[in-house]
Amino acid sequence: MQSKKNVIVIGAGPVGLAAAAHLMQQGQTPIVLERGDNVGHAMAQWAHVRVFTPWKYLIDTAVETLLKATDWQMPDAEGIPLAGEIVDQYLVPAATKTALATHIRYGANVIAITKTGHSKLSSHQRETADYTVQYRSTDGDVHRLRGDAVIDASGTWFKPNPIGLDGLPVPGEIENAAHITYGIPDVLGKHRHRYQGQHTLVVGGGHSAINVVLDLLKLEGSDSPSHIYWGLRGANLQKLLGGGEQDALPARGALGLAAKDAIESGRLTLLTSMQVNSVSTSAERLVVNLQTREGDGPLAVDQIIVATGFRPDLSITGELRLSLDSTVEAPAALAPLIDPNLHSCGTVMPHGADVLSHLDGDFYVVGMKSYGRAPTFLMMTGYEQVRSIAAALAGDAEAANRLQLTLPETGVCNADYGDAAVACCAEPEQQTSCCG
Ligand SMILES: Cc1cc2nc3c(=O)[nH]c(=O)nc-3n(C[C@H](O)[C@H](O)[C@H](O)COP(=O)(O)OP(=O)(O)OC[C@H]3O[C@@H](n4cnc5c(N)ncnc54)[C@H](O)[C@@H]3O)c2cc1C
Repeated sequence: MQSKKNVIVIGAGPVGLAAAAHLMQQGQTPIVLERGDNVGHAMAQWAHVRVFTPWKYLIDTAVETLLKATDWQMPDAEGIPLAGEIVDQYLVPAATKTALATHIRYGANVIAITKTGHSKLSSHQRETADYTVQYRSTDGDVHRLRGDAVIDASGTWFKPNPIGLDGLPVPGEIENAAHITYGIPDVLGKHRHRYQGQHTLVVGGGHSAINVVLDLLKLEGSDSPSHIYWGLRGANLQKLLGGGEQDALPARGALGLAAKDAIESGRLTLLTSMQVNSVSTSAERLVVNLQTREGDGPLAVDQIIVATGFRPDLSITGELRLSLDSTVEAPAALAPLIDPNLHSCGTVMPHGADVLSHLDGDFYVVGMKSYGRAPTFLMMTGYEQVRSIAAALAGDAEAANRLQLTLPETGVCNADYGDAAVACCAEPEQQTSCCG
């Protein structure tokens, strides 16, 4: 029998919104708490980046059903949008023109989740307790909200990895934060003035780093005095740069050609097997103390861009009993499928409520955050996760277990969706992932 639940969804990104839509379809009552003042607040930070999967793999079926009842026009299914276009042409209409609108609370930054009346240590009647979610609103006030279930779709964007290979900031990284940016700055747009005419070191070998390097190359003409250093942790350049015009993956091929031209013209220096030991300042420049395969020594630059991936914020779940893999920080049953130490070319089976469940029942981590530190998450995988979870919460075990991903496979190797194939098929130490 169907049971009606109040479900708190954390985050109004594509997967959080999809969760809310599936919950509504199942007759549940979602309330979405979003820290930003709009939907897609994390994606808006990388609005200028073109994703690598076409629209047909970016739209959730339950959200689409809601949108189809409005004057919304489906974008060209084969078109490949910028992240900002996903926000403007899909997330914003869904959040403003459909029934989802009344289920989203903006400016609600979740700071903790607990079992009502129970600390992590407390076992007595724990299973029957509902959840309390604590959040801070933009005016600074702290609120508590009760729910029967919680779906954490808060992503990882706001917790980027630091420069250090050991997972820690290197000495001087925090002190020189004014000259260091994490993620994918808009170097051709709003951050242009910061990078124009500057010597810049880009750290990382994933999709994000590739985008930044290409944009830096476009920013200035070949006669520019500025220089770009691209530091990779791995050493296998061939896989990263691809096969030029013959490359089966056009974006990688384009990168390869642009990077090779820039190296030949002397504008781009590649540093492989790079380890940064410290960052300091001298004569208003950053001095990066590094070791690379090409040689060691101090490198003087004006800016550093760190594109080395993201990690989940586990602080908000500290009072919950989770079953997380200690390496990947993903649900224990999911981690072996996505652990980059194990998969240089892996396939992630569609998965749902069962694989994503924790010791505390009716609590789920979904979307980008569900992959923990693994970099290969795709939106469609998240949509199937939340479809299954909404069915499970409604008591429909049969629908929850009937996994029905419309992609050929959610993994990244065999599916035909552009650069996504690069994600898992690169060497583990230099995986060219969506987000690393
Ligand atoms: C550069 C890049 C390219 C990518 N390209 C692709 C692609 O081509 N195809 C693909 O399928 N996937 C791609 N991905 C991976 C992934 O699908 C996206 O990152 C997607 O945005 C993940 O959706 P999400 O809803 O899980 O998380 P997010 O989009 O990160 O949304 C999380 C939401 O939660 C909010 N939030 C965070 N913390 C809190 C809190 N404490 N309280 C309340 N709200 C909070 C955020 O503001 C945000 O709105 C890419 C990722 C990156 C970074």
